Amino acid sequence: MDFNYSPQEEAFRREVRGWLAENMRELPPWWGRPDVPGPDVDSDEYRHFSFWWHRKLYDAGFVGIAWPKEYGGRGATLIEQALFNEELARHRAPGPVNVIGIGWAGPTIIAAGTEEQKKRFLPKILSAEEIWAQAFSEPGAGSDLAGIQTRAVEDGDDFVVNGQKWPTGAAERADWAILLVRTDPDAPRHRGISYLLLDMHAPGVTVRPFRWMDGDSSNCEVFLDNVRIPKTMLVGKKNLGFYVAMGTLEFERSQLGATVGRENIINDLIRTMKRTERDGQPLSQDPVLRQELAQHWIETKVMKYMGLRMLTSQLKGEATGPKANLGFVMAGESIQRLQDFAIRIIGPYGQLARGSKHAVDNGRWLRSYLTSRGVPTIGGGPVEIKRNIIAMRVLGLPRSY
Ligand SMILES: Cc1cc2nc3c(=O)[nH]c(=O)nc-3n(C[C@H](O)[C@H](O)[C@H](O)COP(=O)(O)OP(=O)(O)OC[C@H]3O[C@@H](n4cnc5c(N)ncnc54)[C@H](O)[C@@H]3O)c2cc1C
Repeated sequence: MDFNYSPQEEAFRREVRGWLAENMRELPPWWGRPDVPGPDVDSDEYRHFSFWWHRKLYDAGFVGIAWPKEYGGRGATLIEQALFNEELARHRAPGPVNVIGIGWAGPTIIAAGTEEQKKRFLPKILSAEEIWAQAFSEPGAGSDLAGIQTRAVEDGDDFVVNGQKWPTGAAERADWAILLVRTDPDAPRHRGISYLLLDMHAPGVTVRPFRWMDGDSSNCEVFLDNVRIPKTMLVGKKNLGFYVAMGTLEFERSQLGATVGRENIINDLIRTMKRTERDGQPLSQDPVLRQELAQHWIETKVMKYMGLRMLTSQLKGEATGPKANLGFVMAGESIQRLQDFAIRIIGPYGQLARGSKHAVDNGRWLRSYLTSRGVPTIGGGPVEIKRNIIAMRVLGLPRSY
């Protein structure tokens, strides 16, 4: 195994580093500084800031690095995309907006969309002129995605859609959504589902936002009431949308670059442990905490190499398949343990939220602790389901349900 990068990749890394060093000087003083008050992530000011930064990344050719040039991408390799993600995290720089568009909708359209869909949607995903949401889950169908009830009936050149989606992240500001609907209620469950592109501004779409328990991130209920979607918005074949969706989730499961973010957290905790005393000793001297911290570092390194293994599979054009679940389960549960560790070393003050004058780092640790309960082990499909997939498709055990 060769972990060295080619001269071309190293040159790209230098270009990214140079660009970040130059442009991060323009970031507002509150960026990355929990002690300096900044805007709420849901505020217009924060939104303005994120789009301004996105535009800079986009103009520099750092959005859609591995996407084809003809649709607005850079036409570079997945390794360069991974290098970019790594440098962004290492510099603690903000990322691009339109996470669902760039991470899931776009790659699905590239893989399974029509030429018209590619031309129509891909450039505006990258420029963030159009923001995307993912409307797969429903109140009665999350883990069991094949159980969706939202119904689409053909009427002339359109599908007419009725139903409810929940939770649908970023829907209140989305222009488009990737949508799963049931088009054949009589077919076997997995074979009667279609994958559509939904105009969120179409008549009959109602969005009702709510907040998760971390207080910061919002999510939405989406109601679809006789919404007309042109048949040209079908991705892949009618009734085979479940398999297109599995491809989308595969992109989700093979995301790279989170390990540097974990290293940042561990380094911040080391600083906190050195400056926090308990019983007259800095926490960095506590033998049990040192053991735990070392374990977190080991897990971070293991995940880095698992990520590289997935990247190797992708570069060879192999489906990352059920094996990607190994890394996802490990990363999801391990970030929860790390956040739990952070709250324990900070002590009761770690439970104070932003706004309290005694909150440590302006409530950063409480927020990230609460956020870690959602996306890492539930958001992209619960870890129990991923373990089921590993049991069946990696270990060859029989289906249990
Ligand atoms: C922060 C967050 C953001 C999200 N964003 C989006 C989004 O943008 N778009 C979208 O479409 N969805 C989104 N989701 C939904 C997410 O995909 C679902 O929550 C998830 O698939 C679980 O479905 P559920 O909530 O209905 O739980 P359920 O399916 O009801 O599961 C409840 C519990 O039972 C367990 N369970 C269920 N079936 C089995 C089984 N067969 N074997 C073992 N255990 C089982 C589950 O693991 C889970 O612990 C988001 C969720 C979260 C938490």
